[in-house]
Amino acid sequence: MKTGMRFSVIASGSSGNMVFCEAGSTRLIIDAGITARETEKRLTALGIKPSSIDGLIITHEHLDHVKGAGSLARRYDLPVFVNARTLDGMKAAGKLPKVLMIQTGVPFSAGEIKVNSFTKCHDAGDPIGLTLSFNGVRIGIATDLGLSTRLVEDRLKGCDALIVEFNHDEEMLESGPYPWFLKKRIRGREGHLSNTQAGGLVGEVSGDNLRYLVLAHLSKINNVPEKAMEAAKRALLERGRNKTSVLVAQESAPIPMVEIS
Ligand SMILES: [Zn+2]
Ligand SMILES: [Zn+2]
Repeated sequence: MKTGMRFSVIASGSSGNMVFCEAGSTRLIIDAGITARETEKRLTALGIKPSSIDGLIITHEHLDHVKGAGSLARRYDLPVFVNARTLDGMKAAGKLPKVLMIQTGVPFSAGEIKVNSFTKCHDAGDPIGLTLSFNGVRIGIATDLGLSTRLVEDRLKGCDALIVEFNHDEEMLESGPYPWFLKKRIRGREGHLSNTQAGGLVGEVSGDNLRYLVLAHLSKINNVPEKAMEAAKRALLERGRNKTSVLVAQESAPIPMVEIS
C-alpha cells in the first residue's frame, strides 16, 4: 500500500502550467496549460500512463492554465473540478465531459485526495490556491497571485511541500523590455509575486516539516533561476530551515517526481 504522496510540476511559466499529484490510488492533474499531446509526452516520460489520470482541477481561466483542458478532459473522459466563475471564463475549452462544481474555500475530495481551496489576489474571475492532502502529508500550491495575504499564509502553513510562484526579479522587471502597462499589471496586487515577495511568503509559512520547495511560474524575461533560488534559500535560512530541498520548475520539461512519505 502506498502511504505517501508524490508529485511533479509538469510545466510552469507564462506559456503553460501543470502539476501532477498522486496519493493512494488517485492521480490528479492541476491546471492544463499545455496541449493534450504535450501532456501525454511528459507524463509518459515520468512513467505515468495518461489514461490512469482520474481528474483535473483548474485554478483559474488564464490560457496558460487551461489551454489543453478541454481536449485532455475529452480524450480521457476526465471530470473537471472547477468553480463557477472560472468555468464561465474558460468557454474556449469547449464542452467538458463532466464538470464537478466546487466552491472556493469549501473542502472536497478528489478520489482519495482531500483538497482545500482558498482565494487569492489575481486578475481572474475566482482564482484559487490549493492544498492537497493524504494520510497526514500536505502539498500547497500558490502561483498566480499579486500579493500574499493572511489567508494564503494560513492555508500554506505547515505543508510538507510547497509550489510557490517566484515570478520576477523586481529590478529586471523595472529595467526590462515590457511596456509600462504590463509592468504595472505584473507588479500590481492582482499580478504576480516577485522573488522578494515570494521569499517573504515562504519565510512566513515554512515549518520544520517542509521537505520540498518548488519555485514556479518564473518569467523568462524578468527573472533567472539563480535569482529566484537565492531569494528562496535566503528566506529558508533566515528561519533556520536548512533541510528543505529547493527545485526550480520549468516551462519546457517536468521536474523529477518528488516523493513524500
Ligand atoms: Zn499563470
Ligand atoms: Zn494567471
